[in-house]
Amino acid sequence: MKVKFLGGAEIVGKLGMLVENNGASIMFEYGLRLIKKEPPQFPMESPRVEGVFVTHSHLDHSGAVPRLVQDTDCDVYCNDLTMDVASLLFFDSIKIAKSEGYENILRYNDGDVKHVWQNYRSFDVGDVKPIAGLEIVPHNAGHIPGAQMYEVKGHDTTLFTGDLHTANTRLTYGAKPVECDNLVIEATYAGRNHPPREKSEALLQQKVREVVERGGTAIIPCFAVGRMQEVMLILKDLPYDMWVDGMGKTVNGYYTDRPDYLRNIKEFKAAKRRYNPVRTASAREKARQAQVIITTSGMLDGGPVMHYLMDQKDNAKSAVMMVGYQAENSNGRMLRERGMVDTPDGLMKVSCEVMTFDLSAHADHDQLLDFIKGCHPEKVVLMHSDNREELAQDLEGDYEVLMPMSGDTFEL
Ligand SMILES: [Zn+2]
Ligand SMILES: [Zn+2]
Repeated sequence: MKVKFLGGAEIVGKLGMLVENNGASIMFEYGLRLIKKEPPQFPMESPRVEGVFVTHSHLDHSGAVPRLVQDTDCDVYCNDLTMDVASLLFFDSIKIAKSEGYENILRYNDGDVKHVWQNYRSFDVGDVKPIAGLEIVPHNAGHIPGAQMYEVKGHDTTLFTGDLHTANTRLTYGAKPVECDNLVIEATYAGRNHPPREKSEALLQQKVREVVERGGTAIIPCFAVGRMQEVMLILKDLPYDMWVDGMGKTVNGYYTDRPDYLRNIKEFKAAKRRYNPVRTASAREKARQAQVIITTSGMLDGGPVMHYLMDQKDNAKSAVMMVGYQAENSNGRMLRERGMVDTPDGLMKVSCEVMTFDLSAHADHDQLLDFIKGCHPEKVVLMHSDNREELAQDLEGDYEVLMPMSGDTFEL
């Protein structure tokens, strides 16, 4: 089969992988890339495809699917949780595009999201889909609840991982290797290893305790999908006044509605009960007195987190606890490096303590190597990374390693 990345091979974001077989085409992911203060970026235009297989809801994997459906009327394959959360993110992208004046660049609207739902085909672990002379089989990918990787059975067997985590987290079970000839694998963390998970979790709990005991507020900016829920689980036994705000509240509802995608729904329900959700203006007033507030956006580029941060910015007893990736040019990165954030009223100095914790939902360098070994592939295609070379060095000799650029066509 012929394979071509339409985007996202040599960078994290706007992923799209086109597969041609027997004269028919299918797509894996069709995402967008969002950089602060820049218009969203998309994969290259797609030819007609019969279907798009989406691994999970994060926008770098799903965010351009409404455009693809608009252009090609293709079917959309993913599971029910992914579809729920992805449409929440589509509507949010439309809202943001409107407010930033990028509507013509995003080029989809509420009607196109409806079109995605019309073309949606529920596709879950346990199902098999024959398409384009191939058979597609989903497997658990770890990463976030509902994330699945796709085994593509044709002349050879190819595994497309999407985003991958191999260790168990509080929310999900880690992915297990799948025997294949060709492994198309994400390499976000090539060249980097995580500290032991239990250590990061214990450190976060301890630091939150310290901040609250000294009379401060612990502000935890979190991405709405996955990270917020993981942090809620990690902190659920602390005896404090804890609140959640932002779009993650809706995701919490989706997770409890679809318990099968979670590692332990009882734990998650128990965690959810420990936090007050901000649903009204009066609740937000109360949340401003919270001891712990978990809220979007994860990189402090807008969202409710900015209200809480403005309240606390001069309070050296309070702390901002970063638990996720902070992109270049993001407010979160600026806060960490320069102790300042950009607000509608200009640059503001923040006196709160700023801390960083590694709670990544991606496999690290060594975990990627172990996973690759476990799959026994002949060819390894590295993607979804701006640092693929460091992983390639450790694979050279044992495997045929491919690092295609977006736009290159190759055979698998
Ligand atoms: Zn992801
Ligand atoms: Zn990703």
